Amino acid sequence: MYWADKVAKQIIESGKFKPFWVDDMFTPSGYPHIGSLRGPIVHDLIFKALKDQGVDAKFTFVINDFDPIDGLPPEMQDDFSQYMGLPLRNVPSPLEGYASFAAYFADDYKKSMKSLGVEPEFLSSWDMYHEGKFDKAIKLALDNAEVIQDIYAEVSGSKKREAGWLPLQVICENCGKIGTTRVFDWDGETVAYKCEPEMVKWAKGCDHEGRISPFGGNGKLPWKVDWPAHWMVIGVTIEGAGKDHSSAGGSRDIARELVKKVFKIKEPFNLPYEFFLIGGKKMASSKGLGLKARELTELIPLELGRFLFCRYDYRQQVNFDPVGTMAIPDLFDEYDRCFMAFLKKGEESFSRAFEMSHIGELPEKTEMFLPRFRDVANFIQQPSVEIHKKFTEVKGSDLNDLEKKILDERIKYAKIWLEKFAPDDLKLGLSKNAGSFELSEEQKKYLGKAVELVHTDLSADELQTKLYELTKAMGINPKVGFQAIYQTLIGKDFGPRAGAFIRQYKKEEVIGKISEAIK
Ligand SMILES: [Zn+2]
Repeated sequence: MYWADKVAKQIIESGKFKPFWVDDMFTPSGYPHIGSLRGPIVHDLIFKALKDQGVDAKFTFVINDFDPIDGLPPEMQDDFSQYMGLPLRNVPSPLEGYASFAAYFADDYKKSMKSLGVEPEFLSSWDMYHEGKFDKAIKLALDNAEVIQDIYAEVSGSKKREAGWLPLQVICENCGKIGTTRVFDWDGETVAYKCEPEMVKWAKGCDHEGRISPFGGNGKLPWKVDWPAHWMVIGVTIEGAGKDHSSAGGSRDIARELVKKVFKIKEPFNLPYEFFLIGGKKMASSKGLGLKARELTELIPLELGRFLFCRYDYRQQVNFDPVGTMAIPDLFDEYDRCFMAFLKKGEESFSRAFEMSHIGELPEKTEMFLPRFRDVANFIQQPSVEIHKKFTEVKGSDLNDLEKKILDERIKYAKIWLEKFAPDDLKLGLSKNAGSFELSEEQKKYLGKAVELVHTDLSADELQTKLYELTKAMGINPKVGFQAIYQTLIGKDFGPRAGAFIRQYKKEEVIGKISEAIK
């Protein structure tokens, strides 16, 4: 059984998580990296698997736009440092056309999610707080401040905080920051606060002191309390997070105690998903490492992007390392295997992986020919190969419309792969390591004359003929002559038809390579 179906079955059979309400969240404080798409897709898969088993389910996604800015992408540091500590929702957008900093980055995240077929109902944390939906949770948290401190201390082993500490941050009425306020003295209606200049390293408070109602959007619960408070306010029954949150003494353990002792609700079903690694390193947007989420869809087709996350159980670490490796062709092969299982009613878990990775309407289950990605990449580098004709030969009959569409898409992505990712030895293009061969004097002389032909306006075919005739005229074995061309241009002993190959490139580029080799 496909892993998400297994999880859905387990959720349903336990009888403990009704109504089936899946939820996830993100903080719109920068461009999301590829790895951060795992959460949305894992939750989406569980949501869809639940529905496929015939139960009603809901899927919401909370945008944490009430959080303070506590870090910035490097390129924004100059213009946005002045806003550190303000709620994301109250900071201007880096680009015109968006209501706020939060709206701009939320839009980027939503677009990436939507393109990958993830379309939950989005909820704004700012809006929910301002509509008073969190008032009850805030009151419970303030009334239970001592209990919460004890939970922090017991679970995470941290020292008990100072007397009078309250689990809340309010927006400073003087400077508008939320990241710098220390809240104390809850009298049942208002709290006292001080905007502390030195409380956090990333923002400086203004020293203002005041009293304010904690309700209606004046203040926000700290993240560890805010998370389980969301479960209560929204009614969430299924929500996971990256497995780092579920480590012993982490925020999940704290949330579990808080729902028991403070909010008095049942803990949602947990999905502690593994990291998505690239090149063996954890991708973290805060460190500027790795690819942005929206860039994934420029490298591989959307379905393949989604497939990358669908294929593997959420408890399995995914290591996607496309640079200089066969990771992308391998991904296509694995996709094709699952596609075929779907078409031919093969192995069910493969077939479901394909179905779940598909965006839009599923194709008909008929015979189909899939042009293998690595063959596409190989053929498009050979100017003598007419690729549509070639695949008609490989298939043994004409390609139908869908097959043609898939082929064209693969041609597009094979070009990108060859340009950005393919290992050098698989590129038939003008090679960087060309020229490492030792050419004989005879070969150098031949190239010296051949380069004059490259200068002319001869067509690809004419050039091919002339290069051949030149070997005859110079009394050099044609094989040895052409080998000199291949060694010089692509670093191999053999290659595609030289005339057509040379004419793919700018004359200066080819002439430059040859001149370099014979000087
Ligand atoms: Zn202030």
